[in-house]
Amino acid sequence: MSIAENIARLRDEIASAAKRAGRNEDEIALMAVSKMHPFEAILEAYETGQRLFGENRVQEFEQKSPHVAALEGAMFHLIGPLQSNKTNKTAELFDAIDAVDALKIAQRLDAAAKERNKRLPLLIEVKLSHEESKHGIAPAELGALLDAINDLAAVDVVGLMTVPPWSEDAEAARPYFRELRRLRDEAVRTHPKLTQLSMGMSNDFRVAIEEGSTCVRVGTAIFGRRIYPAAE
Ligand SMILES: *Cc1c(COP(=O)(O)O)cnc(C)c1O
Repeated sequence: MSIAENIARLRDEIASAAKRAGRNEDEIALMAVSKMHPFEAILEAYETGQRLFGENRVQEFEQKSPHVAALEGAMFHLIGPLQSNKTNKTAELFDAIDAVDALKIAQRLDAAAKERNKRLPLLIEVKLSHEESKHGIAPAELGALLDAINDLAAVDVVGLMTVPPWSEDAEAARPYFRELRRLRDEAVRTHPKLTQLSMGMSNDFRVAIEEGSTCVRVGTAIFGRRIYPAAE
């Protein structure tokens, strides 16, 4: 199957999952996760009308960015963990940062965005499982982080994201998606811009849509197995 066919099929599947959940398919963005795929793959997706992309390494995307600059209207979000020594590069290269999990990172992004006369939308990554390796802020710390970021002028928190523990069974992710939605519903009462829920990947996006996802991040089901050599 080609990238174009995969995207067309995914759009159909997103529409039918939305319908099953009694939702409007326009509420759900499809993010094409192009990490570890070359520029040619991004271009092929772009030519089908795809505009929203996710990359998870600053350095890898820096190598692609001279090429993607020609793709008018394409938006690239950083969806991977960000180290504080890369916040300047990140603010320069990306349109939004979807995995912020510390005030220090948000403060540095805010300073870098100010310098560039830019506003950066952020999502906060919440860690809902007890896996050692996972990034993200603990749910109990979310309220304080949101209040602190509220005072920063050049960044806006527009939603939450999470990555549940990997499982072959998509249903295993449902409680995590449901919990993220509950946290969003609670937070939006005091932070009205906080409407988005980035959740769901290739194997569990249908469940995520049923649980309220507004952005599914799909890599493998669009581009196939990841091939590009890791940059770091
Ligand atoms: C790689 C990645 C994805 C895409 O995963 P697939 O299973 O290939 O769809 C989604 N979200 C994040 C944060 C990722 O790092």
